[in-house]
This record gives sequence, C-alpha cells and structure tokens, in this order.
Amino acid sequence: MTGNRRWVTGALQHPDRDPTRRELLAATQKPYGVVLSCIDSRVPPELVFDTGLGDLFVMRTGGQAIGPVVTGSIEYGPMTGGTPLIMVLGHQRCGAVAAAYQALKDGKPLPGNLQAIAEALRPAYEQTTRGGSADPIETMTKNQVTLTADALRGNGDLGPLVIERKLAVVAAYYSLDTGQVEVLNGAPD
Ligand SMILES: [Zn+2]
Repeated sequence: MTGNRRWVTGALQHPDRDPTRRELLAATQKPYGVVLSCIDSRVPPELVFDTGLGDLFVMRTGGQAIGPVVTGSIEYGPMTGGTPLIMVLGHQRCGAVAAAYQALKDGKPLPGNLQAIAEALRPAYEQTTRGGSADPIETMTKNQVTLTADALRGNGDLGPLVIERKLAVVAAYYSLDTGQVEVLNGAPD
C-alpha cells in the first residue's frame, strides 16, 4: 500500500529492478505477497504497487476469474513458502465483468472460451442482481473480489493459515482514474 501511494503521487522508487537484485534472487525467491488481478493492461500489479523483481507472485485472468489452476497458483506461495498476504484486486470499468454481466443478464453466451469467464463470475452476478445497484458493473466487480477473497480465506488449505494469523487474504479495488487501491475487506488488524 506504501508503494501504491507512491504510484498515486508519482513519487516512484522502482525498487528491486537492477542486476544486483537479479543476482540475489537467482537461487531462491521469497515474495511477500500474492496478487490476483485482471488481465487489463492498465492494472499491472508490479507497477501499481511500485514493486520489482521477486516481490510478488502475480496471477492475472479476465475479471480476476478463478478456477482450480488459478487457486492452486495462488496457494503455492502461502502453502509452500510462507507468503503472508494474498490480494484479490478488481478494478474500475472492467471490460470482462461488463461482458460477463451482459451475457448472464441476456442469457446469451459469450463466444468460445470467454463464456468460461462469465460462468466463473456468475456468483458475483447473482449477488449483484439480488442486491440491486445503480452501477451494477462496479458492484459486481466488488462482489467478485470479496466473494473470491472470502472463499480463499475459508478454504481447507488456506483457512488454517488465516486462523493462525500467518496469512491475510484481502479484497481490493483499483481506481483507473486515481491509481488508488482501496482495501474492501480482510485487512489484518
Ligand atoms: Zn478487467
């Protein structure tokens, strides 16, 4: 979050991006966080948190949709290397969420494998339609990251790490307008 404040204000440090850092990490890595975010070209976690080499495990899928392979990739750091933080990061004006919302609303599947993303976002869609919203795309995006973070926090493998306070799972939202990351839930005390 300190790095994100630098991103917002433009006071970037570009840490951990030189040959010394590369050599230091050549034999082993110990990132301090896992980020699952969208493929959107405007939301690269390494840039929006002003991080460098070896700092983050990063997974990116359309609408930060999740499935077994993605979940396994998220679990890798916390389960094998003690990575203490997972962030599920949604963002403003997400095209994937907008497309999924429309496809599910109209009952018209998206072409090809894009429909798999819509299906992965169905629980967030259903929560959104139940609640009603003036801005359903933004609401669905926030529902998607909080539902995903809740599921990771409670799953059989990560849940015990959360209870032991070795792991925090945070849902967050990125503003394209300001560059700011807002934590929605799961921040450690
Ligand atoms: Zn997106």
